[in-house]
Amino acid sequence: MTWTVRSPATKEVIGTLEETNGERINEMYASAAQAFSTWSGLPISERIRFLRKVRLQIIEELDQIVKVISDSTGKVSVEALTTEVMTVVDSISHIEKRAAAALKTKRVKTPLTFIGKRSYIEYKPRGTVLVISPWNFPFQLSMIPIVEALAAGNAVILKPSEVTPLVGRLIEKLFTQAGLPDGLLQVAHGGKELGAALVKGKPDFIHFTGSVRTGKIIQTEAAKQLIPTLLELGGKDPMIVCADANLERAVQGALWGGFTNSGQVCMSVERVYVDKSVYQEFVDRLVEAAQHLRQGTAADSDIGSMTFPQQTAIIKEHVTEALDKGATLLAGDHPDKWEEGQMFIKPMILTNVNHGMAVMQEETFGPVLPIMAFETEEEAVALANDTRFGLNASVWTADLERGKQIVSRLISGNAVINDVIITVANPYLPYGGAKEGGIGAYHGDVGMQGFCVQTAVMVDKGRRKKEVNWFPYEGKYELFVRLIRSFWGENRNWRGFLAAYRQLLKKESRK
Ligand code: NAD
Repeated sequence: MTWTVRSPATKEVIGTLEETNGERINEMYASAAQAFSTWSGLPISERIRFLRKVRLQIIEELDQIVKVISDSTGKVSVEALTTEVMTVVDSISHIEKRAAAALKTKRVKTPLTFIGKRSYIEYKPRGTVLVISPWNFPFQLSMIPIVEALAAGNAVILKPSEVTPLVGRLIEKLFTQAGLPDGLLQVAHGGKELGAALVKGKPDFIHFTGSVRTGKIIQTEAAKQLIPTLLELGGKDPMIVCADANLERAVQGALWGGFTNSGQVCMSVERVYVDKSVYQEFVDRLVEAAQHLRQGTAADSDIGSMTFPQQTAIIKEHVTEALDKGATLLAGDHPDKWEEGQMFIKPMILTNVNHGMAVMQEETFGPVLPIMAFETEEEAVALANDTRFGLNASVWTADLERGKQIVSRLISGNAVINDVIITVANPYLPYGGAKEGGIGAYHGDVGMQGFCVQTAVMVDKGRRKKEVNWFPYEGKYELFVRLIRSFWGENRNWRGFLAAYRQLLKKESRK
Protein backbone atom coordinates (compact mmCIF):
# COMPACT_ATOMS: atom_id res chain seq x y z
CA MET A 1 0.00 0.00 0.00
CA THR A 2 1.22 3.53 -0.74
CA TRP A 3 0.91 6.11 2.02
CA THR A 4 0.45 9.78 1.32
CA VAL A 5 2.16 11.73 4.08
CA ARG A 6 1.08 15.21 5.14
CA SER A 7 2.80 17.81 7.29
CA PRO A 8 0.94 18.17 10.59
CA ALA A 9 1.67 21.93 10.59
CA THR A 10 0.60 22.87 7.05
CA LYS A 11 -1.47 19.77 6.14
CA GLU A 12 0.36 19.80 2.79
CA VAL A 13 1.47 16.55 1.16
CA ILE A 14 5.19 16.07 1.91
CA GLY A 15 5.75 12.67 0.32
CA THR A 16 4.58 9.16 -0.36
CA LEU A 17 5.90 5.89 0.95
CA GLU A 18 5.38 2.15 0.38
CA GLU A 19 4.19 0.27 3.45
CA THR A 20 6.19 -2.89 4.18
CA ASN A 21 4.21 -6.03 3.49
CA GLY A 22 3.85 -8.09 6.67
CA GLU A 23 4.63 -11.21 4.64
CA ARG A 24 8.20 -9.98 4.29
CA ILE A 25 8.92 -10.31 8.01
CA ASN A 26 10.47 -13.80 7.86
CA GLU A 27 12.61 -12.73 4.94
CA MET A 28 13.73 -9.64 6.87
CA TYR A 29 14.76 -11.70 9.88
CA ALA A 30 16.63 -14.12 7.60
CA SER A 31 18.54 -11.25 5.92
CA ALA A 32 19.33 -9.78 9.32
CA ALA A 33 20.68 -13.13 10.55
CA GLN A 34 22.87 -13.43 7.48
CA ALA A 35 24.21 -9.88 7.82
CA PHE A 36 24.80 -10.50 11.53
CA SER A 37 27.04 -13.48 10.86
CA THR A 38 29.56 -11.28 9.03
CA TRP A 39 29.11 -8.02 10.95
CA SER A 40 29.48 -9.59 14.40
CA GLY A 41 32.81 -11.08 13.34
CA LEU A 42 34.30 -7.75 12.27
CA PRO A 43 36.73 -6.04 14.63
CA ILE A 44 35.02 -3.18 16.41
CA SER A 45 37.29 -0.68 14.63
CA GLU A 46 35.77 -1.80 11.30
CA ARG A 47 32.21 -1.41 12.59
CA ILE A 48 33.05 2.03 13.93
CA ARG A 49 34.43 3.02 10.51
CA PHE A 50 30.94 2.51 9.01
CA LEU A 51 29.27 4.45 11.80
CA ARG A 52 31.68 7.33 11.28
CA LYS A 53 30.57 7.41 7.64
CA VAL A 54 26.97 7.67 8.78
CA ARG A 55 27.90 10.63 10.99
CA LEU A 56 29.66 12.39 8.15
CA GLN A 57 26.73 11.66 5.83
CA ILE A 58 24.42 13.36 8.37
CA ILE A 59 26.67 16.43 8.49
CA GLU A 60 26.75 16.49 4.69
CA GLU A 61 22.95 16.49 4.47
CA LEU A 62 22.22 18.53 7.59
CA ASP A 63 19.69 20.96 6.11
CA GLN A 64 17.74 18.32 4.17
CA ILE A 65 17.55 16.12 7.28
CA VAL A 66 16.30 19.02 9.40
CA LYS A 67 13.66 19.72 6.77
CA VAL A 68 12.37 16.13 6.69
CA ILE A 69 12.18 16.04 10.50
CA SER A 70 10.57 19.44 10.72
CA ASP A 71 8.05 18.76 7.93
CA SER A 72 7.16 15.39 9.43
CA THR A 73 6.70 16.53 13.03
CA GLY A 74 5.82 20.23 12.85
CA LYS A 75 8.71 21.00 15.20
CA VAL A 76 10.63 24.21 14.47
CA SER A 77 13.93 23.87 12.61
CA VAL A 78 16.17 24.96 15.50
CA GLU A 79 14.69 22.14 17.59
CA ALA A 80 15.01 19.61 14.76
CA LEU A 81 18.65 20.66 14.44
CA THR A 82 19.62 20.77 18.12
CA THR A 83 17.48 18.16 19.86
CA GLU A 84 17.49 15.62 17.06
CA VAL A 85 20.44 16.00 14.67
CA MET A 86 23.01 17.47 17.07
CA THR A 87 22.20 14.89 19.76
CA VAL A 88 22.58 12.10 17.22
CA VAL A 89 25.94 13.21 15.79
CA ASP A 90 27.27 13.75 19.29
CA SER A 91 26.10 10.28 20.25
CA ILE A 92 27.70 8.64 17.22
CA SER A 93 30.92 10.51 17.87
CA HIS A 94 30.81 9.34 21.50
CA ILE A 95 30.23 5.75 20.42
CA GLU A 96 33.14 5.98 17.97
CA LYS A 97 35.38 6.96 20.88
CA ARG A 98 33.93 4.82 23.68
CA ALA A 99 32.60 1.60 22.13
CA ALA A 100 35.92 -0.26 22.05
CA ALA A 101 36.51 0.42 25.76
CA ALA A 102 32.89 -0.18 26.80
CA LEU A 103 32.67 -3.51 24.97
CA LYS A 104 36.17 -4.75 25.74
CA THR A 105 36.45 -7.96 27.69
CA LYS A 106 36.78 -6.93 31.35
CA ARG A 107 38.91 -8.72 33.87
CA VAL A 108 37.31 -8.84 37.34
CA LYS A 109 38.69 -9.94 40.71
CA THR A 110 38.45 -13.54 41.85
CA PRO A 111 38.01 -14.20 45.59
CA LEU A 112 40.73 -16.00 47.51
CA THR A 113 38.49 -19.01 47.98
CA PHE A 114 38.86 -19.62 44.23
CA ILE A 115 42.60 -19.49 44.45
CA GLY A 116 44.44 -20.01 41.16
CA LYS A 117 41.49 -19.07 38.93
CA ARG A 118 40.90 -15.98 36.79
CA SER A 119 37.61 -14.25 35.89
CA TYR A 120 36.43 -11.92 33.16
CA ILE A 121 33.28 -10.66 31.42
CA GLU A 122 32.95 -10.89 27.65
CA TYR A 123 30.38 -8.81 25.71
CA LYS A 124 28.93 -10.50 22.64
CA PRO A 125 26.28 -9.14 20.31
CA ARG A 126 22.79 -10.52 20.82
CA GLY A 127 21.80 -11.08 17.17
CA THR A 128 18.91 -9.16 15.61
CA VAL A 129 17.67 -6.15 17.59
CA LEU A 130 14.17 -4.83 16.90
CA VAL A 131 14.00 -1.07 17.49
CA ILE A 132 10.46 0.33 17.75
CA SER A 133 10.34 4.11 17.97
CA PRO A 134 7.78 6.90 18.54
CA TRP A 135 6.87 10.06 16.65
CA ASN A 136 7.99 12.83 18.99
CA PHE A 137 11.76 12.55 18.35
CA PRO A 138 11.59 10.20 15.38
CA PHE A 139 15.23 10.72 14.35
CA GLN A 140 17.02 10.68 17.70
CA LEU A 141 14.99 7.87 19.25
CA SER A 142 15.61 5.62 16.26
CA MET A 143 19.20 6.54 15.47
CA ILE A 144 20.80 6.25 18.91
CA PRO A 145 19.55 2.73 19.66
CA ILE A 146 20.41 1.67 16.09
CA VAL A 147 23.96 2.96 16.35
CA GLU A 148 24.54 1.48 19.81
CA ALA A 149 23.19 -1.87 18.66
CA LEU A 150 25.29 -1.86 15.46
CA ALA A 151 28.45 -0.83 17.33
CA ALA A 152 27.96 -3.81 19.61
CA GLY A 153 27.85 -6.07 16.55
CA ASN A 154 24.10 -6.65 16.11
CA ALA A 155 21.87 -6.46 13.04
CA VAL A 156 18.87 -4.13 13.41
CA ILE A 157 15.30 -3.96 12.18
CA LEU A 158 13.74 -0.55 12.78
CA LYS A 159 9.97 -0.08 13.01
CA PRO A 160 9.61 3.70 13.06
CA SER A 161 6.36 5.45 13.97
CA GLU A 162 3.67 5.43 11.32
CA VAL A 163 2.95 9.05 12.33
CA THR A 164 6.32 10.26 10.97
CA PRO A 165 7.20 7.63 8.34
CA LEU A 166 9.39 9.84 6.15
CA VAL A 167 11.94 10.02 8.94
CA GLY A 168 12.14 6.22 8.84
CA ARG A 169 12.83 6.36 5.14
CA LEU A 170 15.44 9.07 5.69
CA ILE A 171 17.27 6.80 8.16
CA GLU A 172 17.15 3.89 5.71
CA LYS A 173 18.70 6.11 3.04
CA LEU A 174 21.44 7.42 5.31
CA PHE A 175 22.72 3.95 6.13
CA THR A 176 22.52 2.82 2.50
CA GLN A 177 24.50 5.87 1.39
CA ALA A 178 27.12 5.18 4.04
CA GLY A 179 27.60 1.74 2.46
CA LEU A 180 26.42 -0.39 5.36
CA PRO A 181 26.26 -4.09 4.33
CA ASP A 182 22.90 -5.32 2.99
CA GLY A 183 20.42 -6.58 5.56
CA LEU A 184 22.25 -5.07 8.50
CA LEU A 185 19.80 -2.23 9.02
CA GLN A 186 16.33 -2.80 7.59
CA VAL A 187 13.39 -0.48 8.06
CA ALA A 188 9.87 -1.91 8.30
CA HIS A 189 7.43 0.85 7.39
CA GLY A 190 4.04 0.33 8.98
CA GLY A 191 1.78 0.72 11.97
CA LYS A 192 1.15 -1.16 15.17
CA GLU A 193 0.05 -4.36 13.42
CA LEU A 194 3.42 -4.54 11.68
CA GLY A 195 5.15 -3.75 15.00
CA ALA A 196 3.22 -6.55 16.71
CA ALA A 197 4.06 -9.00 13.90
CA LEU A 198 7.76 -8.09 14.18
CA VAL A 199 7.65 -8.79 17.93
CA LYS A 200 6.09 -12.21 17.19
CA GLY A 201 8.92 -12.83 14.70
CA LYS A 202 11.19 -13.37 17.72
CA PRO A 203 14.01 -10.86 17.56
CA ASP A 204 16.90 -11.45 19.95
CA PHE A 205 16.24 -8.16 21.73
CA ILE A 206 13.56 -5.46 21.64
CA HIS A 207 14.39 -1.81 22.21
CA PHE A 208 11.07 -0.01 22.57
CA THR A 209 10.41 3.70 23.03
CA GLY A 210 6.80 4.80 23.30
CA SER A 211 3.76 4.89 25.55
CA VAL A 212 3.25 2.92 28.75
CA ARG A 213 0.21 1.28 27.15
CA THR A 214 2.16 -0.11 24.18
CA GLY A 215 5.14 -0.92 26.42
CA LYS A 216 2.93 -3.22 28.49
CA ILE A 217 1.58 -4.95 25.35
CA ILE A 218 5.09 -5.48 23.99
CA GLN A 219 6.40 -6.71 27.33
CA THR A 220 3.52 -9.21 27.56
CA GLU A 221 4.15 -10.50 24.04
CA ALA A 222 7.90 -10.61 24.59
CA ALA A 223 7.42 -12.54 27.84
CA LYS A 224 5.63 -15.33 25.96
CA GLN A 225 8.84 -16.01 24.05
CA LEU A 226 11.19 -14.69 26.77
CA ILE A 227 12.62 -12.05 24.47
CA PRO A 228 14.72 -9.58 26.48
CA THR A 229 13.43 -6.00 26.23
CA LEU A 230 14.37 -2.46 27.06
CA LEU A 231 11.40 -0.14 27.57
CA GLU A 232 11.67 3.66 27.42
CA LEU A 233 8.22 4.91 28.37
CA GLY A 234 6.32 7.95 29.56
CA GLY A 235 6.85 10.70 32.07
CA LYS A 236 5.07 13.22 34.29
CA ASP A 237 8.19 15.06 35.29
CA PRO A 238 8.10 17.35 38.32
CA MET A 239 10.00 20.63 38.69
CA ILE A 240 10.66 21.80 42.26
CA VAL A 241 11.51 25.48 42.67
CA CYS A 242 12.97 26.36 46.08
CA ALA A 243 12.78 29.86 47.56
CA ASP A 244 16.51 30.51 47.01
CA ALA A 245 16.46 29.55 43.31
CA ASN A 246 17.64 31.92 40.58
CA LEU A 247 14.04 32.79 39.77
CA GLU A 248 14.61 34.18 36.29
CA ARG A 249 16.51 31.03 35.28
CA ALA A 250 13.78 28.86 36.82
CA VAL A 251 11.12 30.75 34.85
CA GLN A 252 13.08 30.42 31.59
CA GLY A 253 13.77 26.75 32.42
CA ALA A 254 10.06 26.04 32.97
CA LEU A 255 9.23 27.86 29.75
CA TRP A 256 11.63 25.80 27.66
CA GLY A 257 11.22 22.56 29.61
CA GLY A 258 7.44 22.71 29.38
CA PHE A 259 6.94 24.08 25.89
CA THR A 260 9.84 22.87 23.74
CA ASN A 261 8.53 20.61 20.97
CA SER A 262 5.07 21.79 22.11
CA GLY A 263 5.51 19.73 25.28
CA GLN A 264 5.66 16.50 23.28
CA VAL A 265 8.75 15.37 25.15
CA CYS A 266 8.82 12.35 27.44
CA MET A 267 11.13 14.32 29.78
CA SER A 268 9.36 17.66 29.55
CA VAL A 269 8.31 19.56 32.65
CA GLU A 270 4.74 18.41 33.27
CA ARG A 271 4.21 19.62 36.86
CA VAL A 272 5.67 22.62 38.67
CA TYR A 273 5.90 22.98 42.47
CA VAL A 274 7.07 26.38 43.74
CA ASP A 275 7.92 27.47 47.30
CA LYS A 276 5.01 29.61 48.44
CA SER A 277 7.28 32.57 49.25
CA VAL A 278 8.21 32.99 45.57
CA TYR A 279 5.14 31.36 44.01
CA GLN A 280 3.30 34.51 42.91
CA GLU A 281 6.40 36.12 41.45
CA PHE A 282 7.27 32.91 39.57
CA VAL A 283 3.76 32.62 38.12
CA ASP A 284 3.61 36.30 37.08
CA ARG A 285 6.99 36.15 35.38
CA LEU A 286 6.16 32.86 33.62
CA VAL A 287 2.86 34.18 32.30
CA GLU A 288 4.62 37.29 31.05
CA ALA A 289 7.43 35.29 29.40
CA ALA A 290 4.95 32.92 27.71
CA GLN A 291 3.36 35.89 25.89
CA HIS A 292 6.62 36.47 23.99
CA LEU A 293 6.94 32.98 22.51
CA ARG A 294 6.45 32.93 18.76
CA GLN A 295 4.51 30.05 17.35
CA GLY A 296 4.55 29.03 13.69
CA THR A 297 6.55 27.55 10.85
CA ALA A 298 8.94 30.46 10.26
CA ALA A 299 12.68 29.80 10.55
CA ASP A 300 12.88 31.74 13.82
CA SER A 301 9.65 30.53 15.42
CA ASP A 302 10.00 29.20 18.97
CA ILE A 303 7.15 26.72 19.03
CA GLY A 304 5.87 24.56 16.19
CA SER A 305 2.74 22.53 15.80
CA MET A 306 1.53 19.36 17.46
CA THR A 307 2.63 16.23 15.60
CA PHE A 308 -0.16 13.76 16.20
CA PRO A 309 -3.80 14.99 16.02
CA GLN A 310 -4.98 12.39 18.58
CA GLN A 311 -2.61 13.87 21.19
CA THR A 312 -4.54 17.14 20.98
CA ALA A 313 -7.64 15.33 22.23
CA ILE A 314 -5.76 14.11 25.34
CA ILE A 315 -4.52 17.65 26.09
CA LYS A 316 -8.04 18.99 25.66
CA GLU A 317 -9.42 16.35 28.01
CA HIS A 318 -6.83 17.04 30.76
CA VAL A 319 -7.16 20.83 30.58
CA THR A 320 -10.95 20.80 30.38
CA GLU A 321 -11.21 18.46 33.37
CA ALA A 322 -8.84 20.68 35.40
CA LEU A 323 -10.82 23.82 34.52
CA ASP A 324 -14.10 22.08 35.36
CA LYS A 325 -12.63 21.15 38.74
CA GLY A 326 -11.61 24.73 39.54
CA ALA A 327 -8.23 25.34 37.88
CA THR A 328 -7.42 28.79 36.47
CA LEU A 329 -6.06 29.25 32.94
CA LEU A 330 -3.54 32.11 33.02
CA ALA A 331 -2.14 31.73 29.51
CA GLY A 332 -3.35 30.04 26.33
CA ASP A 333 -6.85 29.43 25.02
CA HIS A 334 -9.66 27.52 26.67
CA PRO A 335 -10.00 24.20 24.76
CA ASP A 336 -13.63 25.11 23.97
CA LYS A 337 -12.22 27.80 21.68
CA TRP A 338 -9.97 25.44 19.72
CA GLU A 339 -11.01 24.79 16.17
CA GLU A 340 -11.58 21.26 14.89
CA GLY A 341 -8.20 19.81 13.82
CA GLN A 342 -6.23 22.76 15.21
CA MET A 343 -2.56 21.72 15.42
CA PHE A 344 -0.99 24.89 16.84
CA ILE A 345 -1.86 24.92 20.54
CA LYS A 346 -0.90 28.06 22.43
CA PRO A 347 1.19 27.40 25.57
CA MET A 348 -1.07 27.05 28.61
CA ILE A 349 -0.35 27.88 32.25
CA LEU A 350 -2.69 26.53 34.91
CA THR A 351 -2.91 27.37 38.61
CA ASN A 352 -5.31 26.23 41.36
CA VAL A 353 -4.55 22.66 40.37
CA ASN A 354 -4.30 19.60 42.62
CA HIS A 355 -3.44 15.90 42.44
CA GLY A 356 -7.08 14.95 41.99
CA MET A 357 -6.78 16.23 38.41
CA ALA A 358 -5.50 14.21 35.42
CA VAL A 359 -3.30 17.15 34.45
CA MET A 360 -1.22 16.46 37.59
CA GLN A 361 -1.28 12.66 37.29
CA GLU A 362 -1.45 11.52 33.66
CA GLU A 363 1.03 12.27 30.87
CA THR A 364 -0.43 15.30 29.04
CA PHE A 365 2.32 15.46 26.39
CA GLY A 366 1.40 18.97 25.31
CA PRO A 367 2.22 22.64 25.97
CA VAL A 368 0.67 22.77 29.44
CA LEU A 369 2.33 23.87 32.70
CA PRO A 370 0.23 23.31 35.83
CA ILE A 371 1.71 25.02 38.91
CA MET A 372 1.20 24.41 42.64
CA ALA A 373 2.70 26.12 45.69
CA PHE A 374 4.35 24.12 48.49
CA GLU A 375 5.14 25.05 52.10
CA THR A 376 7.91 22.64 53.05
CA GLU A 377 10.59 20.66 51.28
CA GLU A 378 8.98 17.53 52.71
CA GLU A 379 5.73 18.39 50.99
CA ALA A 380 7.48 19.17 47.68
CA VAL A 381 9.25 15.79 47.66
CA ALA A 382 6.02 13.96 48.54
CA LEU A 383 4.14 15.73 45.73
CA ALA A 384 6.92 15.06 43.22
CA ASN A 385 6.95 11.36 44.12
CA ASP A 386 3.16 11.08 44.04
CA THR A 387 3.10 9.65 40.52
CA ARG A 388 3.20 6.31 38.73
CA PHE A 389 5.91 7.70 36.43
CA GLY A 390 9.58 8.35 37.19
CA LEU A 391 11.47 9.44 34.10
CA ASN A 392 12.99 12.81 35.00
CA ALA A 393 12.76 15.56 37.63
CA SER A 394 14.36 18.94 38.23
CA VAL A 395 15.26 20.85 41.39
CA TRP A 396 16.00 24.57 41.41
CA THR A 397 18.05 26.05 44.25
CA ALA A 398 21.17 28.15 44.83
CA ASP A 399 22.23 25.62 47.48
CA LEU A 400 23.63 22.74 45.42
CA GLU A 401 24.00 20.47 48.47
CA ARG A 402 20.34 20.96 49.27
CA GLY A 403 19.51 20.28 45.60
CA LYS A 404 21.44 17.02 45.69
CA GLN A 405 19.71 15.99 48.92
CA ILE A 406 16.31 16.57 47.33
CA VAL A 407 17.36 14.62 44.22
CA SER A 408 18.39 11.72 46.47
CA ARG A 409 14.81 11.51 47.73
CA LEU A 410 13.16 11.51 44.30
CA ILE A 411 12.22 8.22 42.64
CA SER A 412 13.35 9.03 39.14
CA GLY A 413 15.55 7.56 36.41
CA ASN A 414 17.01 11.01 35.70
CA ALA A 415 17.30 14.28 37.61
CA VAL A 416 18.75 17.71 36.95
CA ILE A 417 19.62 20.57 39.26
CA ASN A 418 18.94 24.09 37.94
CA ASP A 419 18.33 22.70 34.45
CA VAL A 420 15.75 20.67 32.50
CA ILE A 421 15.65 17.54 30.32
CA ILE A 422 19.39 17.57 29.55
CA THR A 423 20.63 14.21 30.98
CA VAL A 424 19.41 12.42 27.86
CA ALA A 425 21.86 14.47 25.79
CA ASN A 426 24.96 13.49 27.78
CA PRO A 427 26.08 10.27 26.10
CA TYR A 428 28.25 9.33 29.09
CA LEU A 429 25.14 8.96 31.28
CA PRO A 430 22.82 5.97 31.17
CA TYR A 431 19.29 6.87 30.12
CA GLY A 432 16.24 5.05 31.45
CA GLY A 433 13.15 5.54 33.59
CA ALA A 434 11.97 4.38 37.00
CA LYS A 435 8.47 3.02 37.75
CA GLU A 436 6.29 3.39 34.62
CA GLY A 437 9.02 5.52 33.05
CA GLY A 438 10.54 2.32 31.75
CA ILE A 439 12.68 -0.73 32.37
CA GLY A 440 16.43 -0.77 31.71
CA ALA A 441 18.70 1.89 30.24
CA TYR A 442 20.68 2.67 27.14
CA HIS A 443 23.32 5.39 26.44
CA GLY A 444 26.64 5.31 28.31
CA ASP A 445 28.77 2.20 28.65
CA VAL A 446 25.92 0.23 30.25
CA GLY A 447 23.73 1.10 27.27
CA MET A 448 26.14 -0.37 24.75
CA GLN A 449 26.66 -3.38 27.01
CA GLY A 450 22.88 -3.80 27.17
CA PHE A 451 22.87 -4.68 23.47
CA CYS A 452 25.14 -7.60 24.33
CA VAL A 453 24.94 -10.98 25.92
CA GLN A 454 27.33 -10.83 28.85
CA THR A 455 29.29 -13.99 29.31
CA ALA A 456 30.79 -14.32 32.77
CA VAL A 457 33.87 -16.53 32.45
CA MET A 458 36.11 -18.23 35.02
CA VAL A 459 39.29 -19.97 33.96
CA ASP A 460 41.21 -22.68 35.76
CA LYS A 461 44.52 -23.95 34.41
CA GLY A 462 43.13 -27.45 34.75
CA ARG A 463 46.22 -28.97 36.35
CA ARG A 464 44.70 -30.27 39.59
CA LYS A 465 42.72 -33.48 39.48
CA LYS A 466 39.77 -32.06 41.42
CA GLU A 467 38.34 -29.13 43.35
CA VAL A 468 37.99 -29.33 47.14
CA ASN A 469 34.18 -28.98 46.98
CA TRP A 470 33.71 -31.82 44.45
CA PHE A 471 32.73 -35.40 45.37
CA PRO A 472 33.26 -37.26 47.57
CA TYR A 473 32.08 -35.23 50.60
CA GLU A 474 33.26 -37.70 53.19
CA GLY A 475 34.90 -35.89 56.15
CA LYS A 476 34.55 -32.47 54.55
CA TYR A 477 31.64 -30.92 56.43
CA GLU A 478 33.64 -30.05 59.57
CA LEU A 479 36.57 -28.76 57.54
CA PHE A 480 34.28 -26.41 55.57
CA VAL A 481 32.71 -25.20 58.84
CA ARG A 482 36.20 -24.29 60.13
CA LEU A 483 37.08 -22.64 56.84
CA ILE A 484 33.87 -20.56 56.79
CA ARG A 485 34.16 -19.54 60.46
CA SER A 486 37.78 -18.51 60.16
CA PHE A 487 37.35 -16.62 56.87
CA TRP A 488 33.95 -14.91 57.21
CA GLY A 489 33.60 -14.78 61.02
CA GLU A 490 33.89 -11.64 63.11
CA ASN A 491 37.70 -11.78 63.37
CA ARG A 492 39.37 -13.20 60.30
CA ASN A 493 41.70 -16.03 61.30
CA TRP A 494 44.10 -16.66 58.42
CA ARG A 495 45.88 -19.55 60.10
CA GLY A 496 42.61 -21.35 60.75
CA PHE A 497 41.50 -20.74 57.17
CA LEU A 498 44.74 -21.99 55.63
CA ALA A 499 44.84 -25.03 57.92
CA ALA A 500 41.31 -26.05 56.94
CA TYR A 501 42.02 -25.37 53.27
CA ARG A 502 45.22 -27.44 53.32
CA GLN A 503 43.43 -30.36 54.92
CA LEU A 504 40.74 -30.19 52.26
CA LEU A 505 43.44 -30.19 49.57
CA LYS A 506 45.13 -33.15 51.24
CA LYS A 507 41.88 -35.07 51.12
CA GLU A 508 41.64 -34.43 47.39
CA SER A 509 45.17 -35.61 46.68
CA ARG A 510 44.48 -38.82 48.64
CA LYS A 511 41.46 -39.80 46.55
P1 NAD B 1 3.11 4.52 20.94
O1 NAD B 1 3.32 3.60 22.08
O2 NAD B 1 1.74 4.76 20.47
O3 NAD B 1 3.92 4.02 19.65
C1 NAD B 1 5.31 3.81 19.67
C2 NAD B 1 5.68 2.81 18.60
O4 NAD B 1 5.12 1.54 18.93
C3 NAD B 1 5.16 3.15 17.21
O5 NAD B 1 6.16 2.85 16.27
C4 NAD B 1 3.96 2.23 17.05
O6 NAD B 1 3.67 1.88 15.72
C5 NAD B 1 4.45 1.00 17.80
N1 NAD B 1 3.39 0.11 18.29
C6 NAD B 1 2.15 0.46 18.72
N2 NAD B 1 1.48 -0.64 19.14
C7 NAD B 1 2.33 -1.68 18.99
C8 NAD B 1 2.22 -3.08 19.25
N3 NAD B 1 1.11 -3.61 19.77
N4 NAD B 1 3.28 -3.86 18.99
C9 NAD B 1 4.42 -3.34 18.48
N5 NAD B 1 4.57 -2.03 18.19
C10 NAD B 1 3.54 -1.21 18.45
O7 NAD B 1 3.85 5.87 21.36
P2 NAD B 1 3.87 7.26 20.58
O8 NAD B 1 2.51 7.85 20.70
O9 NAD B 1 4.48 7.06 19.25
O10 NAD B 1 4.91 8.10 21.46
C11 NAD B 1 4.55 8.87 22.55
C12 NAD B 1 4.89 8.16 23.84
O11 NAD B 1 6.27 7.79 23.83
C13 NAD B 1 4.71 9.02 25.06
O12 NAD B 1 4.10 8.26 26.08
C14 NAD B 1 6.13 9.38 25.47
O13 NAD B 1 6.31 9.66 26.82
C15 NAD B 1 6.86 8.14 25.07
N6 NAD B 1 8.26 8.45 24.86
C16 NAD B 1 9.18 7.95 25.73
C17 NAD B 1 10.52 8.29 25.58
C18 NAD B 1 11.57 7.75 26.50
O14 NAD B 1 12.73 7.79 26.11
N7 NAD B 1 11.26 7.28 27.68
C19 NAD B 1 10.90 9.12 24.54
C20 NAD B 1 9.93 9.62 23.69
C21 NAD B 1 8.61 9.27 23.85
